Amino acid sequence: MQGRLTGRRLLYPARCPVCDRVTGAGAISVCGICRSLGKPEEIREPVCRKCGKPLDDGEKEFCMDCGRRPPAYTQGCAAFAYRGMEDSIDRWKNRNRRCYTGFFAAELVRLRGGQILRWKPQVIVPVPVHSRRRRERGYNQAELLGAELSERLGIPMDPGLLLRVRDTRAQKELGDGARRGNIRGAFQAARQAGQYGRILLVDDIYTTGSTAQEASRTLLEAGAGEVFCACLCIGRGY
Ligand SMILES: [Zn+2]
Ligand SMILES: [Zn+2]
Repeated sequence: MQGRLTGRRLLYPARCPVCDRVTGAGAISVCGICRSLGKPEEIREPVCRKCGKPLDDGEKEFCMDCGRRPPAYTQGCAAFAYRGMEDSIDRWKNRNRRCYTGFFAAELVRLRGGQILRWKPQVIVPVPVHSRRRRERGYNQAELLGAELSERLGIPMDPGLLLRVRDTRAQKELGDGARRGNIRGAFQAARQAGQYGRILLVDDIYTTGSTAQEASRTLLEAGAGEVFCACLCIGRGY
């Protein structure tokens, strides 16, 4: 057993989930350099009461986006600031660095586990990618994260409750208005989604919130009672 573990470690050395440097240590952890740079940056109060984006102004209740156009989900939260994590997320998502998942899930639980459990979600639903994209990449990072959260928080996951029925252009290439149009009608909820009073939607990144909004809207229209969102990384609110 020991030998096998060592062998596997030699084949797949532990890497820093932020900068991808080989750390060599057993468990995956942030390297000393990233740590000294304050990366990843944890989300701290004050945050938007709706989406969980960090705000500069502690007097404000909501960020500008949520104040202007309140999302359909009840509340959201995130572990890290997206800024500084762009390359890491890209490797995790598109370059087969699935090995980051355990660390990301552990951090999301450490930082937001209490809040997520207070929402009392009955089921975890990862934001789906289109089957073509999934085939290209071989996996959906939101589903990997959802599965780890499911295990750590003792909440079942059902990736079949929400389907991506339309392939869309990558949201990050588009502006705010175009993102909403691009994602509109991208999801379809399974009939069983309507049986749930409280669903936890899980995704990797939250920027303008148009994906979370469209996914929640679809689940709510199918009859779900409430939707909550947990994302690994989130943009700044204004
Ligand atoms: Zn590092
Ligand atoms: Zn907000």
